[in-house]
Amino acid sequence: MPYTAPVSEFTFLMEHVVGLPRVAGTERFAEATPDMVSAILTEAGRLADEVLAPLNRGGDLHPAHLENGVVRTSPGFADGYRAIAEGGYIGMSADPDYGGLGLPMVLTTAVNEMIGSACLSLQLNPLMTQGQIEALEHHASDDLKALYLPRLTSGEWCGTMNLTEPQAGSDVGALRAKAEENGDGTYAVSGQKIYISWGDNDFTENVCHLVLARLPDGVPGTKGISLFLVPKYIPDADGKPGKANDLKVVSLEHKMGLHGSPTAVMQYDGATGWLVGKPHGGMAAMFTMMNNARLGVGVQGLCQAEAAYQQALDYALERKQGRSPVEGGTGTILDHADVRRMLSEMKAEIFAARAIALANAAAIDMASATGDAAWDARAALLTPVTKAYGTETGIKVAQMGIQVHGGMGFIEETGAAQYLRDVRVTAIYEGTNGIQAMDLVARKMMDGGAAMFALLDEVDQTAKDAGDEGARLLAASGALREATEKLVAMEMNDRFAGAVPYLMAVARVLGGHFHLRAALTDEARLKLARVFLNRLLPEAHSLLAQAAAGADDLYALSAEELSA
Ligand SMILES: Cc1cc2nc3c(=O)[nH]c(=O)nc-3n(C[C@H](O)[C@H](O)[C@H](O)COP(=O)(O)OP(=O)(O)OC[C@H]3O[C@@H](n4cnc5c(N)ncnc54)[C@H](O)[C@@H]3O)c2cc1C
Repeated sequence: MPYTAPVSEFTFLMEHVVGLPRVAGTERFAEATPDMVSAILTEAGRLADEVLAPLNRGGDLHPAHLENGVVRTSPGFADGYRAIAEGGYIGMSADPDYGGLGLPMVLTTAVNEMIGSACLSLQLNPLMTQGQIEALEHHASDDLKALYLPRLTSGEWCGTMNLTEPQAGSDVGALRAKAEENGDGTYAVSGQKIYISWGDNDFTENVCHLVLARLPDGVPGTKGISLFLVPKYIPDADGKPGKANDLKVVSLEHKMGLHGSPTAVMQYDGATGWLVGKPHGGMAAMFTMMNNARLGVGVQGLCQAEAAYQQALDYALERKQGRSPVEGGTGTILDHADVRRMLSEMKAEIFAARAIALANAAAIDMASATGDAAWDARAALLTPVTKAYGTETGIKVAQMGIQVHGGMGFIEETGAAQYLRDVRVTAIYEGTNGIQAMDLVARKMMDGGAAMFALLDEVDQTAKDAGDEGARLLAASGALREATEKLVAMEMNDRFAGAVPYLMAVARVLGGHFHLRAALTDEARLKLARVFLNRLLPEAHSLLAQAAAGADDLYALSAEELSA
């Protein structure tokens, strides 16, 4: 499926909308000059278009499979992975002391989007490694860092995250995997983990699993969980993969989509592991990886939206049906108002989701470059929005992409359906979107809404700068402010009942904000901004009404009545 990386769109957003110049103005990211950024985006775009996009269909048709206990990956994935690793894209934001490039997350986010648009199931592999690198940088001992980080950064080895067990999904605290000290500084890790993305492969020298397990004195729940680094092959004295560890892939799941990504049931039988972070401090350490992955998965949603949009637009520009209702039209279905509505909304949603993700990444960069707590709070606030809205956008746009194709959208050979099948899981893994929304209305509101109000101050300024064009945004921002004031005073379960609509209302308001910011720089962008402001932003008001409804009506129906 052809894909053209939207390199100039990234450049515009970074330069004019999400504040790359401010990031590059810090000492830490001074190297991210416009020339360097442009060169990296262009080169990564070429890799995505020419090398990775041709692999996407093969991954769908020829899933990764297990052969005598060994995972065999889809055709061409090994070469594609090597090209990503050799391009230096895995360690773009990693610590230069361990071979990384130390570049801003905002740049990595754009590159991840392009690689993911081209071939999502392959991109999930380096995405997991990037999260693991960040977790080890922050929480591992110096010895572990020295041994693992250079190899993960170069892509010789890759990383996975192991949280889920059959009885411990969203409720990670229910996990039963165990770890016991071996007496030599290592631990014996035992238990079964399910749904482990890229649990194995046939193209990296080693696979490094970050596994959550409980030490014998670990209390029940999340406070008793520790984190262990458990490699497939135990490194020898030279740091080369040595003896095989006591772990195996039991089976691979048969999935709705994302077929090129092997999703493994992993069995650990006293496997040798090394503690990462403090005993019982596993959740804090794993959260570093999870936050990285939440931004990354939000971008996975968005990247499928971009790819689905490009394909739908190409199709609309070729398909002829009926008489054009407009003078001087294209003579294709693009002339029909409803097809216009779909494609314009798809494009407007993609812009909003991309701007939110890049602004999230820029806030992470500003937090790490300045140590300013306000940037930390901004990044923390935006992370669940990026994850949930980015992935919902992926599903909505891929679904609309099928509709634009008409019957051909339902026929696998066009590829339109693959985008929807592949993207669907992004709303589920890395914390379901329900869990993301609960995080937003609970943990991220522990400041009484201060971080949200600071963000809304900026939104109001944009709306005022836009004059008459900003009136709708100003009204929606005011409604969100009022709803947030009420929300922080609500009982927790009432908040949870409205959490998803609240998060989507936040995304609507932020979308309006970024669209108008873009239009303030480049007037031509006002056309797309108006699509968002006229058609999508008004949803904020009905979403906020739902967010304020509380939980009573939901619990009024008994389980029996629901089944009647
Ligand atoms: C393809 C794929 C790849 C994956 N990759 C990985 C991986 O690499 N590593 C890994 O560790 N895991 C992985 N997962 C697991 C994934 O993170 C979980 O599936 C996800 O966290 C949800 O857990 P669950 O499936 O047990 O659903 P459940 O937790 O049973 O949730 C079912 C429903 O209940 C809701 N729910 C649950 N608890 C609550 C609550 N407290 N409040 C409100 N609603 C709630 C959920 O939102 C959901 O709608 C993967 C899953 C898939 C399908």
